[in-house]
Amino acid sequence: MTVITIPIPPYRWELLGPYNGFSGLERARGHQLTAWAVRAGLLPTPDRCSICEVASERRHYHSENYYDPLHAYPICSKCHMALHRRFRSPDRWLALVERHGRAGAWFSQLSLEPVDLAAELRRADREAIADILATLLRLLPPGAPRPSGRLVETWDFAAPAESRGSRPLPFRLGRPQLRPSESNDPSGCR
Ligand SMILES: [Zn+2]
Repeated sequence: MTVITIPIPPYRWELLGPYNGFSGLERARGHQLTAWAVRAGLLPTPDRCSICEVASERRHYHSENYYDPLHAYPICSKCHMALHRRFRSPDRWLALVERHGRAGAWFSQLSLEPVDLAAELRRADREAIADILATLLRLLPPGAPRPSGRLVETWDFAAPAESRGSRPLPFRLGRPQLRPSESNDPSGCR
């Protein structure tokens, strides 16, 4: 049987801060593999926010677990920003959950304190899960396309941003467009 390979899209943004214990580099790699999964037809192109249910031009996926890039949530930029800022602006987030929360909704139970999910997952899986590409290969259904190419490395970020090009992915996966004054968000969504 012929196995189709699909290239992993490059990551063209600055590194984000940590979230849920995942480093900026792990988040970048997770973004790449979620974008790859869309290319590979394993995830739909996000077209409707899974929180406010608005169909938005500004389409993202949000990850809680970057070691599992096949499980990401379509989200609009407004909800995405509120989510990442919930540690320092809980009222805004709680209002959103109050308004849109449904029984069993993925976002209804998110902690208002930062958690180290990454460390928990690594402990439970003896660190193997942190090899995100190997983890993805384990998760792929039989017959699914396979990724080719590479994930970003720390040294990729030593080069000036211009040299990495600026062609956007087919949908927005990088950081939300924030004004420079808002760029120092300790929650990790810079
Ligand atoms: Zn939304």
